[in-house]
Amino acid sequence: MAAYPDLTSYNYAPQFAAGAPLNVGWLGASADWAVTPPSSELLDALWAVTQVVVAPARGFHFCELCGTEEVGVAQRLGRRLLLGHAEIRVLGGAGEVYAAPDMLFHYVACHGYRRPLRLSVL
Ligand SMILES: [Zn+2]
Repeated sequence: MAAYPDLTSYNYAPQFAAGAPLNVGWLGASADWAVTPPSSELLDALWAVTQVVVAPARGFHFCELCGTEEVGVAQRLGRRLLLGHAEIRVLGGAGEVYAAPDMLFHYVACHGYRRPLRLSVL
């Protein structure tokens, strides 16, 4: 998967760039980010926005941080999701749009990725 710095302009799939989104959570194996244990409220909110995906891919991305080649499966609130095959969009409080891989839930839940502070809606 492509890696982009947080809060840079999204251009991974231009056909899904409506609203001029900003990148969040496009982590590569060498990504350097702040680590914070996520709260249950954050995981619930992120889980909710991960239910609706955009920009579906024809294959799966595997977590480079885990170093696995297995499809990511996340489970929360009695539901399971396959991760690594699409993107999500999150609207900010000032009308900004954030674009993230659907792996964002995994990055936050399993690797403690701390989203940029401007992403206060989660
Ligand atoms: Zn991982």
